[in-house]
Amino acid sequence: MTTFDRRALEAAGYLVVPGFIDLHVHLREPGFEDSETIASGARAALRGGFTTVCAMPNTEPAIDSPGLIAELVARAKAANAARVLPVATITRGRKGKELADLVELAAAGAVAFSDDGSPVDDARLFRSALEYARAADRPVLEHPQDLALSARGVMHEGRVSADLGLPGIPAAAEEAAIARDLALAKLSGARLHLQHVSTARSVELVRRAKADGLAVTCEVTPHHLALTDAWVAGDRTVAWEGRPSPRATPFDASTKVNPPLRTEGDVRALWDALADGTIDAIATDHAPHASVKKDVEYDLAAFGISGLETALPLLLGGVDAGWAALDTVIAALTTGPARVLGIDVPDDDWTVVDRAATWIVTAAGLASKGKNTPLLGRELRGRVVMSVVGGDVRYEGDLRAAPLAVR
Ligand SMILES: [Zn+2]
Repeated sequence: MTTFDRRALEAAGYLVVPGFIDLHVHLREPGFEDSETIASGARAALRGGFTTVCAMPNTEPAIDSPGLIAELVARAKAANAARVLPVATITRGRKGKELADLVELAAAGAVAFSDDGSPVDDARLFRSALEYARAADRPVLEHPQDLALSARGVMHEGRVSADLGLPGIPAAAEEAAIARDLALAKLSGARLHLQHVSTARSVELVRRAKADGLAVTCEVTPHHLALTDAWVAGDRTVAWEGRPSPRATPFDASTKVNPPLRTEGDVRALWDALADGTIDAIATDHAPHASVKKDVEYDLAAFGISGLETALPLLLGGVDAGWAALDTVIAALTTGPARVLGIDVPDDDWTVVDRAATWIVTAAGLASKGKNTPLLGRELRGRVVMSVVGGDVRYEGDLRAAPLAVR
């Protein structure tokens, strides 16, 4: 089948939903093409059902000029895969010293601003960034982390890090940064979007700020909704599984991610915040890395999980366990992120899902160049079988004659 026929697909038992929008992916080009390219990342996006992705600007060079935005847009268009929306830096070169020209970058097509990976440490500069972003009518996507508190940490600070003897990143490193960011958002009246919130207290701070009427939004990643810090120690139990899964070797660098995998209590609080609307969007923070950056000691490995292609089955696992309604999860992948960006959900973008299909995650099976996921070897349930961009079928997978209906 090369045409999209919604009725026929639904009649055959497939779930057909609007194309997913991912607020947070790293495409690594220019500068780190061994880890991912715009083309490979945009293809991986389609495999995961994401028809629109926002490209983070922490490339080399960083996306801080209209010329670099134009180049990114041209390359994405040539790839003819997912739509790629450029996010420009907040500061020149992401150095945190001097603001980029946010108004000019917005005019050149930047949909938002972010120094993701590097929070803007200087509060005065960040205030100024919020004011310019407000004038440009774009949100600021902030990576909330107090760098002094998180310094040298490689995993969540708690019982597991103590057992393993690894330096920890306390929950407070995120929460303190969020408290500051919220205060500055209030001062500026800008649209502040907090990236990858990961702790119970973080979402409580956002919940209160929303109740106070602040224009704040936030996102959560599928890995923070499904995995805990016990995975660093070799546990492979997904949060909602009653029975422990087979164990893996501890210190597997594919579990190293920033912010780190947190505790079971945090995971439950994130699902509650998703259910009550405190969390606006689910974003993958797709962070592919070439194996040379991961096949090293835990302390030295790069942070990040390759997440585009496994996001949906992880989320469906939570839905099947009764932790959130399917509609809530789909909204957080479509209308939620669109609202954060202030755009409409594209009319003719669709994602078709076989909820009953099971598949095993393998390095060879991933379209992304980043094979860095702790889910390698694991069987997942639920698979994207078609992605449609602007009415054009750009990805077609295994369309079985009669998928088993899951209700
Ligand atoms: Zn980040």
